[in-house]
Amino acid sequence: MEQRDIKSLTLSELQREFTGLGLQKFRAGQVYRWLHQKQVLSFEEMSNLSKDTRELLKQHYRITRLDIQRKLVSKLDGTVKFLYRLSDGECVESVLMQYKHGYSLCISTQVGCRMGCKFCASTLLGLKRNLEPSEMLEEIYTAQRETGQKVSSLVLMGIGEPLDNYDNVLKFLGILSSADGMNLSLRHVSLSTCGLVDGIRRLQTENLGLTLSISLHAPNDAIRSQTMPVNAKWNVEALLDACRDYFAATGRRISFEYALIAGVNDTDACARELVHRLKGMICHVNLIPVNAVAERGFRRSSPQRIQSFQRILQSGGVNATVRRELGSDINAACGQLRRDSILHEGEAAPSKSPAPAARTGKGAGANDSSRKHRRGPGAHGKPGLL
Ligand code: SAH
Repeated sequence: MEQRDIKSLTLSELQREFTGLGLQKFRAGQVYRWLHQKQVLSFEEMSNLSKDTRELLKQHYRITRLDIQRKLVSKLDGTVKFLYRLSDGECVESVLMQYKHGYSLCISTQVGCRMGCKFCASTLLGLKRNLEPSEMLEEIYTAQRETGQKVSSLVLMGIGEPLDNYDNVLKFLGILSSADGMNLSLRHVSLSTCGLVDGIRRLQTENLGLTLSISLHAPNDAIRSQTMPVNAKWNVEALLDACRDYFAATGRRISFEYALIAGVNDTDACARELVHRLKGMICHVNLIPVNAVAERGFRRSSPQRIQSFQRILQSGGVNATVRRELGSDINAACGQLRRDSILHEGEAAPSKSPAPAARTGKGAGANDSSRKHRRGPGAHGKPGLL
């Protein structure tokens, strides 16, 4: 019998299934809390269930877990980067960052990506598959288990395009924010998209309270089309229209990501054009010095250029900050660890479980504490299916 992925079920789905299995409905609540509050990884640990019930559950369900293939700890700021191995051997990344207000985790939503942005390492090998809700949840639970820290905010900015995996992402957010689950308010969640306008329009009807981040990266179609294939389907005007509507419907300020690439989108003229495009919008612009990706040949703008760009936005009345770089010594740029892992297939692979970061210690050195389960590249689809 094929065992079902129990961690991807909502509480009401679980209740329905349990009733079908002849179990009392309240058992579903108990199991759900074991999975999503105590975050256990086996039915054996569910000590308020009888042995027979646990056996029955084992026959019908599996509990998704992720293996930590690599774990890097930044010696600069304690940022922890995980390369997780999924049950089918695919890999995704998460990054745990410490801020004044607590720990924030950046998670992946797909294995690879088909959006084809030219500056992004995640999309180099195309999309392999969507992540299941259980796998996204387990990115969080495993990071918490491993570090002993509680994740208090979340950004969907790792590998993948969240709105290209819409249903699973929505289900994931539902379980994440449920009272019998982690109960994380979606006000502490940011979802980042390269600009899938149909998804943005759908999202605005869900009333989730999350922050929408838009990867804009250019003030006009000519520049945006050079680096982002999605712009051929939804151009800057269509995207900004959707953002204005999103704000009108939800009252949530839009956050724009703008990665500054030397000589591509970082001139004073670009900054002035951006001011003009964003005039009147309630928004925030996050300026990001682009992370160089060897295959792409893009360079980051100089600090002076970045400053000048920011100054023009601010004096034009557009709220803009420069993103603080975390984990710069551990290759924390999106998708680079997974890409390296695929390219370096065949290296020796000791397979000891990694030490928790708490033990490894903050400032203990850029620490690669595990390299295991290396595997070859799969039949990766090519990017740019839009
Ligand atoms: N697909 C979503 C979320 C994942 S990418 C999106 O496009 O928003 C997360 C963010 O990292 C996006 O803003 C993306 O444009 C940016 N990004 C990708 N590669 C980058 C690089 N090399 N340097 C800086 N930012 C990068």
